[in-house]
Amino acid sequence: MNIILIGAPGAGKGTQARLLEEKYGMVQLSTGDMLRTAVKLGTPLGVEAKSIMEAGKLVPDALMVNLIKERIAQRDCAKGFILDGFPRTVPQAEALDAMLAEQGKTLDKIIELKVDEAALIERVSGRFTCEKCGMGYHDTFKKPKVEGVCDACGSTSFKRRADDNAETMKARLQAFNEQTAPILPYYAKKGMLVSIDGMADMDTVTEAIERILAG
Ligand code: ADP
Ligand code: AMP
Repeated sequence: MNIILIGAPGAGKGTQARLLEEKYGMVQLSTGDMLRTAVKLGTPLGVEAKSIMEAGKLVPDALMVNLIKERIAQRDCAKGFILDGFPRTVPQAEALDAMLAEQGKTLDKIIELKVDEAALIERVSGRFTCEKCGMGYHDTFKKPKVEGVCDACGSTSFKRRADDNAETMKARLQAFNEQTAPILPYYAKKGMLVSIDGMADMDTVTEAIERILAG
C-alpha cells in the first residue's frame, strides 16, 4: 500500500509513519529527514537547502521532485511507502502523480492529520529524537521510559531540531497554510482524501489510521 500523511509541522506524521513502518513493513519516506541528512553530509542539495530550512521556508519544487523520484524508484519501495512531508505544494502533487504513472504505481490512501495551531507549537517545542536510531520523543507527551535512555536502542544521546523554535515555526506554519493546504482540495476533488482528528492521543490516531488502511 502507498499512502501520504499530510499535516502541519508537528501534526504527528513522523510518529505515525514510524509505527506503520514497523507494523506493516512499509517504507517511511520523510523528505525532511532526507534533507537533514543532505545538510549534515554537506551535499550540493544540503548546501542549497540549509538556509531555506533554517528560515522555515520550502525548498524549491524541482529539487524535491528529483529527490523523491529517485527514492520511490528504489527497490524497497515496492513493499509500499508512506510519504511524510511530500508533496508540500500543488506542483509537487502534480509531479508525484506523473512520476507514479511513469513507474506504474498508484496511491491507495491520503490521510490528513488535523491539529490546531496551539497544539502544533506545543508539540514542536517539546520534540526531541534519539541521535542514534531516530526514535521520536516529547518532553510532556512521550518521555523515554527511563529518563535519558532511548526506549528503542538504549542510546543516551538525543537531539533537537534547529528549526523547532518559535520564530521558525511561525514561518513553517505560514508555508503550510499558504503552500501546502491547497493540496487538500487537490486530493479531495479526486475523492482520495480522508481527514482524521490528530489532536487525539498517539494510540487513538494510530487506530484511526489503521481503520482507514483496512477499509
Ligand atoms: P511531524 O512529523 O508531523 O512534524 P512528529 O511526529 O515529529 O510531527 O510529532 C511532533 C511532536 O509531537 C513529537 O515530539 C511527538 O512525540 C509528539 N506527538 C506526535 N503525535 C502526538 C499526539 N497524538 N499527541 C501528543 N503528542 C504527539
Ligand atoms: P519536515 O521535517 O517535514 O518538518 O521538513 C523540514 C523542512 O525541510 C521544511 O521546513 C522545509 O524547509 C524542508 N522540506 C521538507 N520537505 C519538503 C518538501 N516536500 N518541499 C519543500 N521543502 C521541504
